[in-house]
Amino acid sequence: MKLSEIYNNNEKPIFSFEVFPPKGENQEEINTKIENLLNELKELQFASPKLISITYGAGGSNRDNSFEIVKKIKNELNITPLPHFTCICSNKEYIKNYIETLENTGIQNVLTLRGDEPKDIDVCYRDFRFATDLIEYIKTCSNLEFAVASYPQKHPESENLEKDIEILAKKQELGARVAYTQLFFDNEYYFKYIEKCQNKNIKMPIIPGILPVISFSQFERMANLGGVIIEKKTYEYFEKFKNSKEDTIKAGIDFATKQIEELLIFGAKGIHFYTLNKSASTKEILKNIIS
Ligand code: FAD
Repeated sequence: MKLSEIYNNNEKPIFSFEVFPPKGENQEEINTKIENLLNELKELQFASPKLISITYGAGGSNRDNSFEIVKKIKNELNITPLPHFTCICSNKEYIKNYIETLENTGIQNVLTLRGDEPKDIDVCYRDFRFATDLIEYIKTCSNLEFAVASYPQKHPESENLEKDIEILAKKQELGARVAYTQLFFDNEYYFKYIEKCQNKNIKMPIIPGILPVISFSQFERMANLGGVIIEKKTYEYFEKFKNSKEDTIKAGIDFATKQIEELLIFGAKGIHFYTLNKSASTKEILKNIIS
């Protein structure tokens, strides 16, 4: 199903999940982990997810495993896969080739991204500088619909939020159907962001990205992720539980449930869960929301 169909006709919130290709010592171990991932996702099917997005390494690293998961989600789970697609360190030929592979497999949508600059190699812009360059190129050689990334707390390289919103408006002008946000914990950022986007005539759905916190160390790592600010009150909330994994998981479920309830009341058309390949917390949160 195309993104335009998924997001245009929905009465209920659209739930989507993000997963990443697992790593392993060898292909056999990776294949086992991919099977485990599919089993995790089966646990979430009761919530009728409309999309599962699959990350893609900058420069195409992990591309084969990413594509393997894309196929399995489509064929075995019967859910629309949304492959992520980065363009940094890549060139037109490589990208055209992957687009053809995706379309030949019946994929109709991609999440177009620039990708983070890898730390271990020189900056390597080749045929593409920004995500908008990738979008323009994809439009010349495919019928894919595309989603894009957005940053309610500003992309770290941007001068300011207004500049970032101009880029999002440009992505919409080029035909983007939906934006998924970087994760955030304080809804006020999202509310203000949506107001500013509306003032710039951005009408595509901007779907909040939500991370169910499952460990304090993971939560702290998020503070280093591009475009994520953790407010003092949120830090202190999770810090209280840092010595108990069980309590942290429970606190993460409570926190995300409240956050999502507020977002849906505000009018978010869906929720994009950063599952980190685990289903347990997302499952509990969905049960809370749906009941
Ligand atoms: P862009 O839209 O190109 O923006 C990058 C910076 O350049 C921004 O500061 C922007 O304001 C500025 N900019 C953009 N266009 C222009 C222009 N025309 N002129 C001037 N300035 C411009 N990374 C991965 O490697 N793999 C993934 O699978 C992945 N999935 C993600 C999923 C989501 C939902 C999100 C939010 C992020 C994801 N990322 C992923 C991270 C993402 O690649 C990084 O945040 C990256 O630094 C920016 O990607 P982008 O597509 O937003 O870039």
